[in-house]
Amino acid sequence: MAKKLEVASLSEWGFFTLPRPCVIAGPCSAESEEQVMETAKQLKEFGINVFRAGIWKPRTHPGCFEGVGVDGLRWLQRVKRELGLKVCTEVASEKHVFECLKYGIDMVWIGARTSANPFLMQEIADALRDTDIPVLVKNPVNPDLDLWIGALERLNNAGVRKLGVIHRGFTAFDKMKYRNNPQWQLAIELRSRYPEMPFFCDPSHLAGCKEYIPELSQRAMDLGLDGLMVESHCNPSCALSDAKQQLTPAELKDLLYNRIKVRDNDTDNLSYKEGIVSLRAQIDVIDDNLLYALGTRMNVSRKIGKYKKDNNIAILQTSRWDSLLANAIEKGRTYGLPEEFVKAVFTAIHDASVNAQNEILSDKNGERS
Ligand code: PEP
Ligand code: MN
Repeated sequence: MAKKLEVASLSEWGFFTLPRPCVIAGPCSAESEEQVMETAKQLKEFGINVFRAGIWKPRTHPGCFEGVGVDGLRWLQRVKRELGLKVCTEVASEKHVFECLKYGIDMVWIGARTSANPFLMQEIADALRDTDIPVLVKNPVNPDLDLWIGALERLNNAGVRKLGVIHRGFTAFDKMKYRNNPQWQLAIELRSRYPEMPFFCDPSHLAGCKEYIPELSQRAMDLGLDGLMVESHCNPSCALSDAKQQLTPAELKDLLYNRIKVRDNDTDNLSYKEGIVSLRAQIDVIDDNLLYALGTRMNVSRKIGKYKKDNNIAILQTSRWDSLLANAIEKGRTYGLPEEFVKAVFTAIHDASVNAQNEILSDKNGERS
């Protein structure tokens, strides 16, 4: 049973000076004092006032750059002192939290690999008890809404009220367009369960490369999210982590000022036009998911085609098709879908699968899988 979360509004944080989107920007990793200071200086020039940099980096493989550690906290302190920016970094243990508190870090975020781990979340929540710094929780790597909510509950139970979330997408088994699968429907669900909670999107980790950052940022704005956490590096091509997805400060400025349209989020004067934009954004999300599901289904169909070929089995087994269709019609009915519609959709899907399997059986494409 979902518990109510008691969260402070973003305005109570007293952090963000610009109107929506609230932006947190900075490099994936703090690499050197010069890189940190130079990036922060360039970001400040166009109004960014919350600076991010990873100090302890969770890397998939050992031997990669794993962050500069506590030295980086001193550089963040300098950004705060000399440039007046708020500074934040990722914490993944109680020790990280204590170090951040010691160095006056203004805000922390929990990474996607950590929010998936209830033991670590409890340890971090306990370390944050009786502090007042804001905490942002990225979605866990796996698309488990309850696990994400559980992480928020642990922090909230420990008295963290300045609590927000960051949607950074989910690990996908199949290769897809983006580095992490957006599965926006999970973000929409969380947003509707906790409409008061500050909600950020991280288009950098969603995208995995800078070309897709504008469309993902726009999607976040269309869904009415509060802010963006964007990776920005003064010299992205030399970055020690996530080089492909980092924008230069100039590119970030262009994104924010010229490339994304921010929709008004005020429900008091929500006009018809704004309503339709947000509904269409939801439809676009669902269509993305449909296409992703159809692509995944087609891959499985091809595998079946290959399997049948290897075992010398005919492509079409009518009894299987009859029961699949009857099942779909029955299920569709529970979702309010007319029989004719389900029949037409599944016939199209089935025809395409049969064609794909035929291609595999034919000599020309016989070895494709
Ligand atoms: C990051 O923000 O640099 C990071 C490691 O993010 P995530 O936890 O989303 O992978
Ligand atoms: Mn990163």
